[in-house]
Amino acid sequence: MANRAIPMLRRFETESRSMPGTKRELVATRDGRVLSCSCPAWTFRGQCRHATRLVLFLDEFNE
Ligand SMILES: [Zn+2]
Repeated sequence: MANRAIPMLRRFETESRSMPGTKRELVATRDGRVLSCSCPAWTFRGQCRHATRLVLFLDEFNE
């Protein structure tokens, strides 16, 4: 399978709770690793609650 060498990326959007109307965009791999989030916490620490929630979500739905 030639495609297996290429990471399949998925994009997710969530709306900020503290700032309604502000979208946070997350990028994750198909196997459930979060690569980036557009929120300030991710920018500073490389970790945020969006990423944590998304990992749990992906884990549940992993085929
Ligand atoms: Zn975030």
